[in-house]
Amino acid sequence: MQKAAQAVIIGGGIIGCALAYELARRGMKEILVVEKNYLCSGATGRCGAGIRQQWGTELNATLSRDSVKRFEQMNEELAYDQDIEFKQGGYLMCAYTESVWTQFEKNVELQQRLGIPVQKVTPEEAKEIVPHLNIEGLIGATFCGTDGHANPFHVVDAYYKAAKRLGVVFETYTEVTGIKAAKGRVNAVQTTKGDIVTPLVINATSGAAGLICNMVGFDLPLYAQRHQALVTEPVEHMQDPMVMSLSHRLYCQQVPHGSFVMGVGDPNEPIGQNINSSWEFLEDMARQVTTVLPILKNLRVVRQWGGLYDMSPDANPILDQVPDAQGMWVLAGFSGHGFMVAPQTAVLVAQKITGGECFMPIEKFGLDRFRRGELLIEPAVC
Ligand SMILES: Cc1cc2nc3c(=O)[nH]c(=O)nc-3n(C[C@H](O)[C@H](O)[C@H](O)COP(=O)(O)OP(=O)(O)OC[C@H]3O[C@@H](n4cnc5c(N)ncnc54)[C@H](O)[C@@H]3O)c2cc1C
Repeated sequence: MQKAAQAVIIGGGIIGCALAYELARRGMKEILVVEKNYLCSGATGRCGAGIRQQWGTELNATLSRDSVKRFEQMNEELAYDQDIEFKQGGYLMCAYTESVWTQFEKNVELQQRLGIPVQKVTPEEAKEIVPHLNIEGLIGATFCGTDGHANPFHVVDAYYKAAKRLGVVFETYTEVTGIKAAKGRVNAVQTTKGDIVTPLVINATSGAAGLICNMVGFDLPLYAQRHQALVTEPVEHMQDPMVMSLSHRLYCQQVPHGSFVMGVGDPNEPIGQNINSSWEFLEDMARQVTTVLPILKNLRVVRQWGGLYDMSPDANPILDQVPDAQGMWVLAGFSGHGFMVAPQTAVLVAQKITGGECFMPIEKFGLDRFRRGELLIEPAVC
C-alpha cells in the first residue's frame, strides 16, 4: 500500500474512475483510488446505464448534453481496447397525465434552447417510434434520438485503463474506515490496509457518501434508497429507444444482445442501505411494464438485483468541499442519473481542483444551496 498520495479518491464507480482519469490528464501525480470491493461493484454496475438529455433543469440538461458528446468519442478518447457499446436509439418519454405533459412542454423548450435535438410527438407518432407502445391514455411524448445507453462495465473499464496508463493506482478490496483532519483540513485516510497521508480526499461513494462525511463529523444532506431492476431473456430486436413513463415510474430498454433491462421506482421504499431483491418489485414491475408495453408480458425474467440511489434534497448532484474539512470533496447526490452525467461531472470537478477554468459554474452544485433554500429541483425523475 502506498503511504502518501496527492489525492485519494474513495469509490471505484464511474465517478471515481472518471475523475481519476481527468485529474491525471491534467497532470496530477500520485492519485490513488480506494475501492472496498471490485471496480463497478456499486450503483454503476447495477444501473440501467441509460443516457438521456431530456432534463428539466438547465444544469442537468447541459451536463448530460455535453456528456453525450464524450460518450460518442469515448472509445477513441480513452484508446479503449474494447467497446463501451454506446447505442443512440433515443429516449421516448411518455406523458400519461396532464401534469407530466405540462412539465414535458416546459422541459422541451429548455432542451431545445440548449440545442438538444428533442421534439414533441403525438401518441400516433410515438407508436411509429415504438410500435408495441400502449397509447391508450397517452397525452403526448417527447423524443430525442441522440439519447441512448452504454455498457457500464466497459465504460468504467475504459476509464480505469486510461487512468492507469497515466499512473493512477487502484487499490481494490480496501475499505476506508476513517479520515483524519486537523485545523479544519484533511490530512490522511485510514483504510483496512493502513493509513494514506494526503491533502486531498474525494468522496465518490454514492449511497455511502453520508457515512464517509460522518467520518469528519459532517452531516451530508443525502440519503440512500434502494432501486431495483431486472433483465429478461434475449429476444429478437424490437425496440430502439429507452421508453420512460414518469407516471408509471418506469424505464425499459432493449440492450444490444436482445434482453430487456427495466426498473421501476417504489414511492414507499424506505431510506437505508438495503440492496436485497424483493418479490414485490417483480410484481410491481410486471404490472407497470405490461401496461405500457403489453407485448413484453410473456418474456421470462433472467435476473433481478437492487442498488442504491444517492438522493439529494433536490435530485441534483452535490459537488463541493466539506465545510470545516477543507481538502475533502464530495461528489454525490446523483439521484439516479449519475452514470449519464459522469463524464462531464468529472471534467468540471477536475477543472476546479486543478485551478483551471470551469466550463460551467460549479458553485451552483454547492452545499450552500440547501442552507440558502435555493434548491435546483429536478422534475424529470422517477
Ligand atoms: C437500479 C439503478 C438504475 C439506475 N439507472 C441509471 C440510468 O439508467 N442512468 C444513469 O445515469 N444512472 C442510473 N443510476 C444511477 C447511477 O448508477 C449512479 O448515479 C452512478 O453509478 C453513481 O456512480 P458513483 O461512481 O458515484 O457510485 P458507485 O458506482 O456506487 O461507486 C461508489 C463506490 O464506492 C465504494 N465504497 C463505498 N464505501 C466505501 C468505503 N468506505 N471505502 C471504499 N470504497 C467504498 C462502493 O463499493 C462503490 O463501488 C441507476 C442506479 C440504480 C441503483
